[in-house]
Amino acid sequence: MTKETKYQSKQEKTSSKSFSIFSIFRIIIIIGLLIYLGMVYWLPKKPKMENNLMIATNGTCMGTTWNVSICESSFQDEAKLFEIVQTVLDNVDATMSTYKSDSEVSRFNRSLSTDWFPVSPLLFEVVQKSLEISQKTNGAFDITVGPLVNLWKFGPDKTQISQLPTEEEIESTRKFVGYRNLQTDSTTSAIKKTIPELYIDLSAIAKGYAVDLVARELEKNNINNYLVEVGGETRCNGEKMLKIESNETEKNQTTDDSIEKRPWVLGIEKPYIKKDFDETPIFLYRKVIMKDGLSLATSGDYRNYRLVDSTRFSHLIDPRTGKPTIMINENANVPMKRLGSVSVILPNCLEADAYATAFFVLGENEGIELANRLYIPVLFIIRNEQTDPPQFEEVASDSFLNKIESTKF
Ligand code: ADP
Ligand code: MG
Repeated sequence: MTKETKYQSKQEKTSSKSFSIFSIFRIIIIIGLLIYLGMVYWLPKKPKMENNLMIATNGTCMGTTWNVSICESSFQDEAKLFEIVQTVLDNVDATMSTYKSDSEVSRFNRSLSTDWFPVSPLLFEVVQKSLEISQKTNGAFDITVGPLVNLWKFGPDKTQISQLPTEEEIESTRKFVGYRNLQTDSTTSAIKKTIPELYIDLSAIAKGYAVDLVARELEKNNINNYLVEVGGETRCNGEKMLKIESNETEKNQTTDDSIEKRPWVLGIEKPYIKKDFDETPIFLYRKVIMKDGLSLATSGDYRNYRLVDSTRFSHLIDPRTGKPTIMINENANVPMKRLGSVSVILPNCLEADAYATAFFVLGENEGIELANRLYIPVLFIIRNEQTDPPQFEEVASDSFLNKIESTKF
């Protein structure tokens, strides 16, 4: 073998080696390309939902936060979802807020006229529903409680309460309270005070109503699988859809089996008093399976309360006494067992919200009787502070036990 031949043969060898490496790369690339093309060709068109089954958005309005989640293949625009929700809530706020001096309610409250006062369909509906619930709860729920709410400094006046109202102040304020002093006329969509001082406060119903209005708007946009929550009051419809990691999905194949439908599940928390913790962790007491489009609202004494002269009192006022439903002398240091929260589950959130307040005001004994008579699913959670840490017990209405799928944590 000559040097040349030797060289040549080395060159040939090198070129055949580089050819083989190059070919292997080419083959790999071609096979890869074929597999890719094959997949695109063979696989059913990816449903859009696959990458983003649930879209969720949140914001603030009405002095609280809101959260909305939807599962809809045909609606994937988060910014548009936000806009739909925020527009509805801003409208409710502009109509019903007692914190905004230019709201429709504030204008009605300022007016001393006892003539008919034409109102928007929104305000008319909520006032009419409020009066119906007042009748059914013997006045435990009463939107005319506003002057008392303001007296106990749970209203828009943010000045600190330095001393408890006197009995005289309470009695003179009570004269302006009573749902029978408020009338509605559906033919003219007007409402009317029978006493000039009447003042309405929709705080215990407006959030629930806002949730219903958001749900209505979502359904108008063909969104039927949703969870809407405003300040803790929640309404669900349809189902939650989850992408399940199966072998098929790992192989990047999408079939209907990889999307699992599950009911919305909500938690009812243990009504711990906020002061027991530096922050407010949430301990769940029960979970509720929200089937068939239901709303859940909870009222409690554990988040919104004031402390004056060692007396702790909550924001829910009993219109029959003019006083907060819960008034505790912290100095007495007597461990007690009493109502901590009330949760109501009904198809619409307006009613769930209002009844939760009403049943809290009534308490578990009077409340359970009414809940059973009206066949409303209600869960009363009693906080027993005689033990350390507190224990929680429950009183549930018949329809809560019979109709609602719920388990304790
Ligand atoms: P919760 O969800 O704990 O019931 P809400 O914010 O829904 O709290 O409602 C409480 C508010 O409702 C109070 O701050 C007050 O403005 C108003 N309110 C208090 N007592 C009553 C009552 N008996 N009926 C109607 N509204 C009330
Ligand atoms: Mg409420």
